[in-house]
Amino acid sequence: MISRVGIMGGTFDPIHFGHLLMAEEARQAFALDEVVFVPNGRPAHKKAYLVSSPEDRYAMTRLATESNPQFTCSRIEIDRPGPSYAIDTIRAFREQYTHLDALYFITGADAILQILTWREYDKLVEACQFIAVTRPGFSLERLSELADKNFLDHVSFLPIPGLDISSTDIRVRIHQRRSIRYLCPDSIVDYIEDSGLYRPHEME
Ligand code: ATP
Ligand code: MG
Repeated sequence: MISRVGIMGGTFDPIHFGHLLMAEEARQAFALDEVVFVPNGRPAHKKAYLVSSPEDRYAMTRLATESNPQFTCSRIEIDRPGPSYAIDTIRAFREQYTHLDALYFITGADAILQILTWREYDKLVEACQFIAVTRPGFSLERLSELADKNFLDHVSFLPIPGLDISSTDIRVRIHQRRSIRYLCPDSIVDYIEDSGLYRPHEME
């Protein structure tokens, strides 16, 4: 029976080894039975026209996670109309998994700071625990200045090997016709190549 679950939210445009490593490190450190990757539908905090289609991002997330039996993917945010809010996703997981011992929301150092600006963030901390992993270029120090004690009580910090990889950099590289091999799994490199995602338009 699944009782310890981690939610790995992201835009995954595209998914890369930074995402996979943090999920695996969190899985092991917190003895999670399952890490559920949840690609954002329409991210509330990113401009819609700059983001690839939900179906492409979901397909890539499935491909990248299929070799790990403890990783799964959820369409919950993709299939829900309107902007994606984490609180709605967490509430839905609580309803779906009736025997939960622990529910964690896994984030990087940049994302945990953003959460302080989210709608209903105080309700989020009542609904789950947070795992904040280290990320090159971002400091977790400001969190203790910005967040109140109640929030910090619900955050666990997890140092992981630094991989200075971002989806933004991968998109820029493709635009500039530079290689993205070894930044994300080969299956993702192939998917991007076959679909033409992130390539500059011919007129440019
Ligand atoms: P973008 O550049 O488009 O914002 P991204 O690489 O930041 O993409 P997201 O989908 O925005 O990827 O991030 C999903 C989650 O993964 C966030 O919590 C983010 O902090 C975390 N994350 C992404 N890349 C890394 C990394 N290299 N190391 C640690 N955490 C990461
Ligand atoms: Mg990001």
